Amino acid sequence: MGLRVDSLFRTVLLMGMITIATPADAGAPDPDEARARKFVDEHVARVRPLEHAAALAWWDANISGKDEDFRRKEEAQNRLDAALADPGRFAELKAIRGGRLTDPVLARAVEVLYLTYLEKQVSPDLLRKITAKANAVEKAFNAYRARVDGREMTDSEVRRVLKESKDRPRRKAVWEASKGVGPVVAADLKDLVRLRNEAARALGFKDFHALQLFLNEQSQERVLALFDELDELTRAPFREAKAGIDARLAEGFGIGVDELRPWHYHDPFFQETPAVFATDLDAAYAGADILKLCRDFYAGIGLPIDDVIARSDLYEKPGKSPHAFCTDINREGDVRVLANIVPNEYWMATMLHELGHAVYSSKNIPERIPYVLRTESHILTTEGVAMMFEKFSKDADWLEAMGVRLADPRAFDEAGATMRRNKLLIFSRWCQVMLRFEKALYEDPDRDLNALWWDLVETYQGVRRPERRDAPDYASKIHIVSAPAYYHNYMMGELFAAQVHHTIAREVLHGIDPAKANYVGNRAVGAFMKDRVFAPGKTLGWNALTRHATGEDLNPKAFAADFQSR
Ligand SMILES: [Zn+2]
Repeated sequence: MGLRVDSLFRTVLLMGMITIATPADAGAPDPDEARARKFVDEHVARVRPLEHAAALAWWDANISGKDEDFRRKEEAQNRLDAALADPGRFAELKAIRGGRLTDPVLARAVEVLYLTYLEKQVSPDLLRKITAKANAVEKAFNAYRARVDGREMTDSEVRRVLKESKDRPRRKAVWEASKGVGPVVAADLKDLVRLRNEAARALGFKDFHALQLFLNEQSQERVLALFDELDELTRAPFREAKAGIDARLAEGFGIGVDELRPWHYHDPFFQETPAVFATDLDAAYAGADILKLCRDFYAGIGLPIDDVIARSDLYEKPGKSPHAFCTDINREGDVRVLANIVPNEYWMATMLHELGHAVYSSKNIPERIPYVLRTESHILTTEGVAMMFEKFSKDADWLEAMGVRLADPRAFDEAGATMRRNKLLIFSRWCQVMLRFEKALYEDPDRDLNALWWDLVETYQGVRRPERRDAPDYASKIHIVSAPAYYHNYMMGELFAAQVHHTIAREVLHGIDPAKANYVGNRAVGAFMKDRVFAPGKTLGWNALTRHATGEDLNPKAFAADFQSR
């Protein structure tokens, strides 16, 4: 679910192994094609074992938490990076990409490899500087503790105060202290931005943001146009949802709505839904067998996951990573999930999510797809699939169809629907801030970023800036350092999820209202997913896959329709 986790999924899945076969009736060999096939074959022979080793080392390190396993993981990753950084190989690949390739699958493999190698073509000296600077900022981040009344607070203590405290001056003090990391890291962060830009310019891009999007087969113009459209469609429902939340918050604090400031929300950035509506979704899962529910659900739709479960590590133990992720170890069906299941709604959602990644993997991408392309189309499409399945944990119809008895199904459904709606709306407005801020940050790190941050927060999230505040509050968001130019993919994943779900409701479930479609026991849903979403692997880019699956380009209409129907 988390960023670190899902970038792992991406990293591990990037490369392949099976040779692209020459068509039997190819006649005289085309010199361009022969050269391309040779390159791809050599790449697979060299890189596949490195990838396999890196994936296994990563898995082991996350299970054991041992220093030696983390060392092995880092060494494996360095060997893989070194193979992809080879300038001679990249020069050959560039020449091949400039040639004429008539086989579309081969051309696609070359394009995918080109982007993979391009990312690593930064001079080792500059790369060392970037890594050192990023590590320095992350270290300062990890070492920083908010200090209130002479006492240090951990991150989770900060969160607890913002979630639970009724003491307004204390909330304000804690919120301000949590932003105190900004001035500590801001100068280094700007240096990091300049270094990243230097690397991007050496590769021929105007800045690092433009490069990152290019590497992900996106452009700033296209993504911004999509976000503008999303802004239009979500503005009114967001305003309405936020008015409801604000009224409850203000009432709870005994103040007027216009007195609400950032510290009255329940997390440091208002990226999550404040817990102002009485909702207890956990009670439904207290006695439930989450693993069995997952097993039954996925088997019922024709996408069984028993083999994944058998290879997975699913419960808490000492040293183990507290997060959750799914990884495809070898692109031959060895797919595993790391999790820490306890019987509550969060872990029901998380397991549906991670197993959504698991079904969209080499388990269900056919072996005939050449190895380089035998992976998900894009990070946004696999996130989309995972999020599509995840949503059922808050759906009373789904639970009842799965045989879980609810004390009050109607109350559960209302609470679940409100939570889902608020969560998506709040997250979408937060993503607007992140995308637009990061784009501007890399465009000009010397502009007045303090003011820009709050301009964006006020415009898109509707949260009023504190009076006379002039501080680098943007620099208190770690993702700007550790997962740059990445957030928008989660939002685009949500759009993909909604669009695929609406297509299933229309084409597979005979035009049922998408809000009522729960898939339970319907094998046609699995058949649709295999055929229309999984089968192409990476032979199609994200937008071509969206057209293949839904008949339309990726767009926010289905996502927005879900807010209008209620
Ligand atoms: Zn995920």
